[in-house]
Amino acid sequence: MKIQIDENGYYGRYGGAFIPEILHRNFEELSSRYLDILEDSDFQKEFRQMLHDYVGRPTPLYYASRLSEAVNARIYLKREDLNHTGAHKINNALGQILMARKMGKKRILAETGAGQHGVATATVAALFNMECIVYMGETDVERQQLNVQKMKMLGAKVVPVKSGNRTLKDATNEAFRDWCNHPDDTFYIIGSAVGAKPYPDLVARLQSVISEEIKKQLMEKEGRDCPDYLIACVGGGSNAAGTFYHYLNDERVRLIEAEAAGQGIDTGKTAATIHCGTEGILHGSRSLVMQTDDGQIIEPYSISAGLDYPGIGPLHAHLSEIGRTQVLAITDDEALKAAYELTRLEGIIPAMESAHALAALHKLKFLPEDIVVLTVSGRGDKDMPSFIAHFS
Ligand SMILES: *Cc1c(COP(=O)(O)O)cnc(C)c1O
Repeated sequence: MKIQIDENGYYGRYGGAFIPEILHRNFEELSSRYLDILEDSDFQKEFRQMLHDYVGRPTPLYYASRLSEAVNARIYLKREDLNHTGAHKINNALGQILMARKMGKKRILAETGAGQHGVATATVAALFNMECIVYMGETDVERQQLNVQKMKMLGAKVVPVKSGNRTLKDATNEAFRDWCNHPDDTFYIIGSAVGAKPYPDLVARLQSVISEEIKKQLMEKEGRDCPDYLIACVGGGSNAAGTFYHYLNDERVRLIEAEAAGQGIDTGKTAATIHCGTEGILHGSRSLVMQTDDGQIIEPYSISAGLDYPGIGPLHAHLSEIGRTQVLAITDDEALKAAYELTRLEGIIPAMESAHALAALHKLKFLPEDIVVLTVSGRGDKDMPSFIAHFS
């Protein structure tokens, strides 16, 4: 059976649109227009041009020879860390702000956890001269001062959220509340392949440029357009969705996801939603959620701020359920070790999130001739305090 989203926004049992009445019109407007806009040739021309000239695409597909030797397989790294602002998130933020302009919206909202999506959104808002409000849990504001300062320098208003645990989930709730109060002129730029219909599909399509490039680049380098394995880390699931997109229905390719085990999936200090979550509704869609028996969200934990989301995009809940993906839970320690290994072997300091994908290399059994493409979702500059704390 072909893996694709249905007209109600479901991948199998997961997805849908569970939203307050007052936002129905907004979601309907976006749902009814996003595919036409994405397929519009002017939109595509501008998106492609900006991906090339501003973001710096295509990102290299780099054959990592020393890492390949260490793992005993042919490892290629898809270098999303080389994008402007240092990660894959800009692909999505750029696409969504172009969509907002097409729809005549003037005001941009975003939620952010670690601040990476907030910075990407503030960046494109500055570029297109649009008002930008970023909701961020107060705890995260304190932890992520550099990103807060960047967003402010870029001209965004950062609103610290004081409800709940004061982290990403609470920031998302608050951004939704703002949108309810400003339904007409405002566009909500969501940061991952999560949320109500049509966001998971919209974000996956905008990030699908990653697998589009992999196909072309692999053909040039290996004379075939598909690898044996694709590996990506999953927080909400946007870089994984983009990495897998054009291979979802290609059974030759094994799809591997690395989620954050934190201190271990049995410790309670974890963000491994696919391993530990149960079916529930979070931020407008049905998926797997870290929750208590009576539906209270359990605050996730990971050394990597970009992976500690208590949900997972509905695509990934579905892919895991039908056995299309193999999901590995990677601990903080394993990720740290993998980050260090890549740095010393290849001279690339990866984001802590990406390090989870790298650690997965040591949990799989490859043949020496296997071709493995691993997406390095971001660069490690933002994680230097964590690296220093653990290695010096
Ligand atoms: C945000 C982030 C992630 C996790 O988000 P996804 O939507 O799962 O891709 C992964 N890597 C980096 C570098 C990030 O900034």
